[in-house]
Amino acid sequence: MTAFVFSEPNFDNHEQVVFVSEPKSGLKAILAVHNTNLGPAMGGCRMWNYASEADAVTDVLRLSRGMTYKNAVAGLPIGGGKSVIIANPKTDKTPALFEALGEALERLGGRYVTAEDVGTNTDDMAHVARKTRHVAGLGETGDPSPFTALGCFVGAQAAVKYHLKRDSMEGLVVALQGLGNVGFDYARRLRQAGARLIVTDIDQAALERARTELGAEVVPVDSIYDVEADIYAPCALGATLNPNTLGRLKVKIVAGGANNQLATADIGEFLRQKGILYVPDFVINAGGIIKVCYEHLKKPENEVEAHVRRIGDTLTEIFERAAREGVATSVEADRVAELRFKR
Ligand code: NAD
Repeated sequence: MTAFVFSEPNFDNHEQVVFVSEPKSGLKAILAVHNTNLGPAMGGCRMWNYASEADAVTDVLRLSRGMTYKNAVAGLPIGGGKSVIIANPKTDKTPALFEALGEALERLGGRYVTAEDVGTNTDDMAHVARKTRHVAGLGETGDPSPFTALGCFVGAQAAVKYHLKRDSMEGLVVALQGLGNVGFDYARRLRQAGARLIVTDIDQAALERARTELGAEVVPVDSIYDVEADIYAPCALGATLNPNTLGRLKVKIVAGGANNQLATADIGEFLRQKGILYVPDFVINAGGIIKVCYEHLKKPENEVEAHVRRIGDTLTEIFERAAREGVATSVEADRVAELRFKR
């Protein structure tokens, strides 16, 4: 398949898409700047062994566009962008590769600021930072995932209050998929609030930890969609809400940290018709970018938590407006974002 850009369905008027090739380090990357109306574009750098260049183009455009929406709804003074490095994060990492990425960012002059994402970490970003200031998520306090997990928790609380008319998580059952950086911390908070956890992961060590530390019940990977629970919390892969899983879900709320949970936009409406409250992914999982943005713009660290906690109020407004308008929560979340960033 030939790679294409302007006609890609996710192109959506990207301001700039830069293809970077640096043969000495072997860097092959795509830097996508979707929209800078609210400020410089910010979004992480994903390193992935894409099956094709077309897949990489699709991924970076989809993610970059998503960052514009996420950053706008989170009330941040930044636009949306993302980058991908086409390489294997397990075998292809070198300092020179990330320095070359830093040089490419420098050439963009601050229109796009990167940070870690799937396949990259704070150590990699330290190499990027040797060549440019336009990188965030650095150092020991750079990990955004605890804030993403906090946002998920307050988002789940808002959903429970709105949809189940309950002020407490005590006794609720949560089916949680993916006990990684975000999922485990979110699970810990749910457990502390009195929820019962049913979990799955492909990583046996993570499952064992959840069993011993959180008293979680473990189910096989594919069974998580069949679990009877109050909340389904996707915290691993995207597109888990799809025609194959929709009919199986026996939950009242979907509230998890994974990006791009809806396989296609119309799934939001199907969930609404089934009476399942879908908590829009890019609203509930904005805690990490809020943290990274504060760090990069040198805004007061001690205000990050309060900003992340406001995700709960934002969601309540989205639930209420979606109900009033008779539309899916995903549609209403898009509208809120577009009102803020579109000119
Ligand atoms: P992670 O890599 O630390 O964790 C992912 C977990 O999912 C791992 O434990 C992995 O073993 C598990 N997993 C993989 N495939 C699975 C499968 N088929 N079934 C069940 N479990 C599976 O990643 P993370 O940082 O925790 O991010 C999780 C999700 O949240 C991703 O979709 C990511 O894009 C999104 N997200 C993360 C952040 C953040 O701050 N880290 C911010 C916003 C969104």
